[in-house]
Formats: sequence, C-alpha cells, structure tokens
Amino acid sequence: MQPHDLLTAHFRIDTVHQSALKRLSIHTVLDLLLHLPQRYEDISSIQSVGTLEKGQDAVVYGKIGGLKTRKAWKSRVPIAEGWVEDGTARIKIMWFNQPYIAKMLTDGMYVKLAGKVTGSDDKLYLANPEIEKLESLPIDRHDSIFSNTENLDETIYPVYRESKGVTSKWFFHTVQKCFSAGILEKIHDPIPEDILARYHLPTLNTALIWIHTPKKAEHAESARKRFAFEEVFYIQTAKARERAQIHVATSYQFNTDPKHIEAFTERFPFPLTRAQHTAIAAILKDFSGLHPMSRLLEGDVGSGKTAVAATAAYAVATSRPPEGIGKKLEYGNLQVAYMAPTEILAKQHFESFIQYFKHLPIQIGLLTGSGCMKFPSKSNPTQPTKISKAQLLKWVKSGEIPILIGTHALIYKSVAFKHLAHVIIDEQHRFGTSQRRALAKKDARMPHLLSMTATPIPRTLALTVYGDLDITLLDEMPKGRKPIITKLVAPSNIESVYEHVRNELALGRQAYVICPRIDEPDPTQENALILKSVKQEAERLKKEVFKKARIGILHSKMKPVEKERVMEQFLAHAIDILVATSVVEVGVNVPNATNIIIEGAERFGLSQLHQLRGRVIRSTDQAYCFAVTSKDAQGKSGKTMERLKALITAKNGFELAEYDLTLRGSGELYGMKQWGLTDLGMEAIKNIKMVEAARTEAQTLIANDPELHEYPLIRDKISVLSKELHME
Ligand code: ADP
Ligand code: MG
Repeated sequence: MQPHDLLTAHFRIDTVHQSALKRLSIHTVLDLLLHLPQRYEDISSIQSVGTLEKGQDAVVYGKIGGLKTRKAWKSRVPIAEGWVEDGTARIKIMWFNQPYIAKMLTDGMYVKLAGKVTGSDDKLYLANPEIEKLESLPIDRHDSIFSNTENLDETIYPVYRESKGVTSKWFFHTVQKCFSAGILEKIHDPIPEDILARYHLPTLNTALIWIHTPKKAEHAESARKRFAFEEVFYIQTAKARERAQIHVATSYQFNTDPKHIEAFTERFPFPLTRAQHTAIAAILKDFSGLHPMSRLLEGDVGSGKTAVAATAAYAVATSRPPEGIGKKLEYGNLQVAYMAPTEILAKQHFESFIQYFKHLPIQIGLLTGSGCMKFPSKSNPTQPTKISKAQLLKWVKSGEIPILIGTHALIYKSVAFKHLAHVIIDEQHRFGTSQRRALAKKDARMPHLLSMTATPIPRTLALTVYGDLDITLLDEMPKGRKPIITKLVAPSNIESVYEHVRNELALGRQAYVICPRIDEPDPTQENALILKSVKQEAERLKKEVFKKARIGILHSKMKPVEKERVMEQFLAHAIDILVATSVVEVGVNVPNATNIIIEGAERFGLSQLHQLRGRVIRSTDQAYCFAVTSKDAQGKSGKTMERLKALITAKNGFELAEYDLTLRGSGELYGMKQWGLTDLGMEAIKNIKMVEAARTEAQTLIANDPELHEYPLIRDKISVLSKELHME
C-alpha cells in the first residue's frame, strides 16, 4: 500500500460508498488518512444498559424502538415512550408532557440518551432523557464499546465527518487497516524537523497516529495543533513565494507630480478623507518603484474606493501627458484595466469615471459581454457613445484608449493592450487568482496591481490569505454620512417594520428584503430550498404586506444575465422591493434603496450582516436596517440578541469580523469557507501566535530557498493549494 494508491485498490467499496467518498474529496489512501476526526467522544461516561441502577444519571448509546404516545391513566398527561437497546439489555424510556418527541424519532434509529434512571428495580426506565440522533453507534476499540474498558486512557474515540453512505465507524476501521498495512512507513513529513522542534509539534506520522487513535486527550490536541499549523504554514508559504516572485519582477516605473495629482483630486465634489489621501500616497510611491505594486485596498462599503482607483488611473494615464505635466517616459502611453465582477458595477464605474475625467482629454472605454462604450463621444464631448467591440479593441491595442473598464471580458485573449501598466480589481474576492493573473499577464512587464475589497476580515486571516499583498485600510467614512439606523426586531414586532417600509415606499424609496440563510448539506436540495423560500416570501409580501409594491426576486441560482437584468430593473426603480438571498451583498449602488429588512438575522455572521447593511449606505437620505430574528431564535436565550447588538455598537466592519471569529464556532464562521481553510485551519486563525509563527517560518523558508528546491514535498503541497485556493 502506497499513500497515493486509490482506496479502491485496497478496499471493497460499493458505488454508494464511492460517491460518498467523492463528496468528501477522498480518493487516495492519503486523502483518507487526512480526513481528520471532527471531534472525540469520551466513552468513559457511557454505561451499558444491563448495569443501570435506580437513581443513576446515565448516558447510553443504542437503538431505539417501540415508540408511541399515550395519555397517562389518571392525570391525562401526554406521555411519549419507547425503549432503547444496546446489545446488553433493553430499558424503557418515558417523556412526560412532550408528546411530539415520539414524532421526531423513528424506530430503529441510533441515539445517545442522557437521563435519570427511575422507577422500581424490576421496572426501571429513563425519565425525560436528552436525546441526540446518531448516524451510527460509536466506534468500539474492543469488540463492544460496552465491554468495560480497563485502561481509562483509552476511552476517547474519534468521530469523523460522515456523508450519506459512509459512517464514522467505517473511517475509523479503514484507517486502522491502513496503519496495520504499514502505511506510516511510506509517508514522509514535508515540514522540516527544526520547525517542528521549535514549536513542539509532533511529526506527521506521530500526528496521524495521535489524531486517529489518541490514547489521551492531550495527544489528540497536540496532533490537531500540528495539522492546524501545517495548514496555515502551507498557505503562508504559497503566499510568501508569490510575493517573492512579484518582488523580483519588473514593472513600469514612473514618478508622479503631487501637484498634478492634487489638481485632479481637488475637482472632486468632496474633500478626500485622510484615509483616502494615505492610500493614494502609498499607491503613487509604489508606481515610482521598479517592481510591481501588489496592494489590497480594504474598506467598508461607501468608504470611497472608487475615487482612489480613479486617482491611480489618472496618475497612470497621464504619466506621459500631452502638455508636459509630469515626467516623460520611455514607454509611451501607459494603460489601466479596471475589472469589476458584474456588468452593472462596470457600468457604474464607467459613469463615475466620466464624472472624474470629463474635463480631461483622456479616453475611457467600457467593455462588457453585452456591449462597448467610449467616452467622450466625437460628436458630443460631454457624452459617452456606443462603439463596436472591434473598434474598441483596436484603440486599446494601439494605446489610444488609456483606461479600459469592464467585466471579466477583459481577460479574453482578444483584448490586447499596448502598455498595460496598472490593473485594478474591484470586489477582488469575486475573482479567482487565475483570473487576476490572466489580466496581469497581458503585458511583458508585470502591471501594478490594486485589488479592492469591502469584505473586512480578522487580522490573523488577512495575514494568512493576503500574505502576497500589502494592505491599505480605508478605515474612515466620508464626513457627513448619516449613519444607518439599525434595529434588532423580534418577530412579534415585524408589523411596525412593515409599516415603516410602507411609508418609505410611499415617499418613493425602495427596499431590500433578505431571506434567511439556508444550510443544507446536499447542494441540490439547498438550491431548491433557497428558491422556494425566496419565491414564497415574495408572494407572501405581495399578498399580505406590500400589496401595491412591485416586487422582484434575486437569488444565487439565477444566471448572471438574469441577475443583472433584475438589478437593472431595481436600479431603474421598475421594482420597489427586491426579495433576495445574500447574493446582493456585492456592491451595486442603488441610492434610492434606503431600507433593508434582514430576516433570520441570527443565521448570518456579523460581518455578513454588516455587508448586507452596506447596500443601503449609498444615499444622502436616512437609511434603515432591520435585523429580524426568527421565531426559533427567541428561545435561544439572550445570547443571540447579545451577539446581534454588536451590529449597533461596533465601529466598523473589522471589529465585527473579529467578533465573528471569537463568538462563533470556527466551523460556523460564515463566508470563511471561501478562504479555502478547513475548520482546523480556522481554529489556527484564532491563534495569533500560531499565525505569526507560521508566517515567520514561511518567510524564512522562502527567503533562503525561493523556489523550494530543498523542499520538494512542500513545493508539491503548495502547488496543489494554489489550484484549490481559487478565492483569496
Ligand atoms: P466603495 O468604497 O464602497 O466602492 P464608492 O467609491 O462607491 O465606495 O463611494 C461611495 C460614495 O461616496 C460615492 O457616491 C462617492 O462619490 C462618495 N465619496 C467618495 N469619497 C468621498 C469623500 N471623501 N467624501 C464624500 N463622499 C465621498
Ligand atoms: Mg465599490
């Protein structure tokens, strides 16, 4: 058996099994070994049914049966009852006053029960036990988990993530078989020994044993630490390597005259914020260097990223200006490509740029799937005009059009530039690395890159996933913005929200209604559910709440063109209310939409709620955000409300992102999967010391051996990573 052998070469695996494993991306023996347990269960607390005694607080595992409901003989109290059997004996279960329980369960189900042993010695039963449904019974080390374990240390067993057709138990036993087949001798640890030693981490082989068959909880802990470190370390190394490659690449080097830039920004209808000034200065400094800029501009929605982008574009487009401003360059006219994730956004940027550039003899092109435009028009210099794609591409190629704005249509081979010196990417998380690279490769020199994002993330995560970028924060909002009025609303108060929105609609405003997030392991199921909830909510609102309103829907399953069309209609106010899933979080500017109702607010992370709320920040009119909790969230103590209150108190998105990281379980961190981290990796992200250690080691490694000649195993790991990490 070799690590890269297919599992099917060694184990009998039927088709159901096979597709389950595929869903979990497990193909080879090594994949299996790296399918780490999700958690551990301690079986020292488990009792076998045969030994239960009256008065005990018991935890038992078994199969349930004989479920029925009845009314108590005299008191008429409803009783749900059944029995549980674990191979040693069977005991009766009774739930008083909870008749629905029997309906939630079915005979033959595996369960874990925790409750008090009650009754008389010959008629024992478990009274009102807490119940947990299980996919299968716990793994047994010996032949039965119920045989008493002598060695107290060996009472923890791993629980693996399951998928329909493959159980946790199967994982356990199959991993054991691989161990017995001597697989560990064939596995080599990519991480250098000295690094492991520095942080007291176990070797890969030890870690594999410890994580799959821990003798003590500390072993499992130590192994998890190693795998967490490893994950962050590989990402850091990949990023450090990219960064090193950028640092030695050649770009366009040019100086800009601060006075000349000031003349441009002074025409803006507003003074720049301090943060915008700082960002512009950092960008101009990068332009003056020989090597390409690689910078991320991170700022909340509405912080004014477009103005910064326009100023950078201006600096590039005028780097060899007609009337001798600035310095003469050897390259001739330099160009800028500005890529946005949707057509509507690209058009909005085009329109903003026209406002910024209308006094200048600088041509601006717009390239999208549905058509091309150019500003200014020959016949009417204050207006843009439609032109053919062929004509636009010709002028871009000749360098006559210095600024080209567009969607990912910009990446196509047919789009060639004369001297592409600067690439700006808006909402960069919407593009894959490869798409961004494709744009950067359009020139023999590497263009200066400015990525922009409104997704605030915790610092430790930024240090990891943005390791290849310099980060500039726009951590300040333009003056005079009215803060959004945010209210947390219990379902019982929803009518007052509707009343408010009806009044706003009567004043000619628009609104978003966001449907709750739906989690469903099966993706096709999930899509069906999402669609249903959006449609149902739109119908209900139309019938019962906003009878006069024009209501549109938007969800992630619509084709991009359909989405664009709906957004266009909303923008043109042909729709009053947009019922949507969280897909609207990407930045389209609809200034007239001043209200957002977020249903099932507790199901979203705080930073995502903040992003959604950002949809209504664009206007000078007062904007409102109503975070409505669902009915079933009410029971969940004050915690839910406590967490949501941060929406009102936090200063900005970054603060909320940090809250998300600390408040929620790492597996729940919404939107975090997109960063390409596993749950274990996310745990590491909570630990600043570990992130910094991984970063230091990765940087040292790359500094000493940029191409990783000495570390082929690490090189392999990160080349796989670079393919997988399509988001960053
Ligand atoms: P985002 O950072 O979300 O991309 P935009 O660049 O779209 O934000 O800017 C949002 C709005 O704020 C625009 O209407 C823009 O004209 C305006 N704006 C940008 N900078 C400032 C500023 N310093 N003062 C006032 N308004 C500004
Ligand atoms: Mg923007």
